Amino acid sequence: MKNPTPTIIVRFSAMLVAVIILIALIVLKIFIFQNLDWRLIILIPFLVFAAGYFIFYYAIEIFIYRKIKLIYKLIYDTKSPQKSKTKKTELKNNIIDDVESEVLEWTKDKKKEIKKLKKLGSYRKEFLGNVFHELKTPVFNIQGYLETLIDGGINDENINMKFLQKADKNVNRIIKIVDDLQMISNLEDGSFPLTKEKFDIYMLAAELLESLEIRSKSKNISLKFKEGCEKSFFVMADREMIHQVLNNLITNSIKYGNEDGNTQLGLYDMNENILIEVSDNGIGIAHNHLPRIFERFYRVDKGRSREQGGSGLGLSIVKHIIEAHHQTINVRSTPGVGSTFGFTLKKA
Ligand code: ADP
Repeated sequence: MKNPTPTIIVRFSAMLVAVIILIALIVLKIFIFQNLDWRLIILIPFLVFAAGYFIFYYAIEIFIYRKIKLIYKLIYDTKSPQKSKTKKTELKNNIIDDVESEVLEWTKDKKKEIKKLKKLGSYRKEFLGNVFHELKTPVFNIQGYLETLIDGGINDENINMKFLQKADKNVNRIIKIVDDLQMISNLEDGSFPLTKEKFDIYMLAAELLESLEIRSKSKNISLKFKEGCEKSFFVMADREMIHQVLNNLITNSIKYGNEDGNTQLGLYDMNENILIEVSDNGIGIAHNHLPRIFERFYRVDKGRSREQGGSGLGLSIVKHIIEAHHQTINVRSTPGVGSTFGFTLKKA
């Protein structure tokens, strides 16, 4: 018999003992006690069967069932407490198979959990390493400028002001990193209140294009709307935050854009949402970097990013802001051709 249930095992064992007793009684009657009553020979194995059945049943109940219950308690207490209450251990069912499959499932869950924790652990380590690395450079720079000034540079008219300004620039860089990290952390734990209002995303984008014109002129990059997109599109969102999102995306398109390039803004009506796209014909991003560019401190070309005053936190903030609005952001890019960042906002 394949996979017998505990009840079948109990029945079979009791029956086996009863049959052995029956055979023994028959042998006894034939060879020793010839006057033994046949009714007794039938009754005794029957009683043995009944008693054996209960003894085996309770033995299994006490030794196996309770141990199994303990296993369930252990795995479900740490997995899902509700399930342990509803779970009934029936001796009529194939309990060993049930336990085996549940323990296997539990082991799989635990393995997944451990993998996740390990990933989180290494992510945390990498994150701390990045914070340390990003802050180390400006702190050492400041230390260098101050030491030079203390060692007499303060009286040297040629360098004193220049070094103080450089120290100040580094202090500002530290403040920017700390502020950005604070903002990401607040957005992550939901303690950054969104003030949603109805506003015209076209107007906001037009204002931004104007304010970034000086910056784009330095690389002779043209900033404009795509054809047919120069009209009002009302959205329901936190205006200030979306200002930051657009500012980061357009600034990036200039930072990583080519001389004489162009950045175009597209606004599209998508039934419930408005899709906003920022496209450039800049350096582009290689396929293998794309899944990671929204991570904190992730930069494709660290040197180029630092040169532009970047810390690798901009896109992470952008993603957090869009996700706080329960919307999505995506990127399409080809090295040497350009990039398009698109995000959605709820239509007002
Ligand atoms: P950073 O401060 O380095 O600009 P971001 O988080 O804004 O940080 O961007 C992360 C990285 O993504 C950048 O370092 C850059 O390598 C890449 N990137 C972002 N925007 C663009 C773009 N428009 N074109 C090419 N690469 C980009």
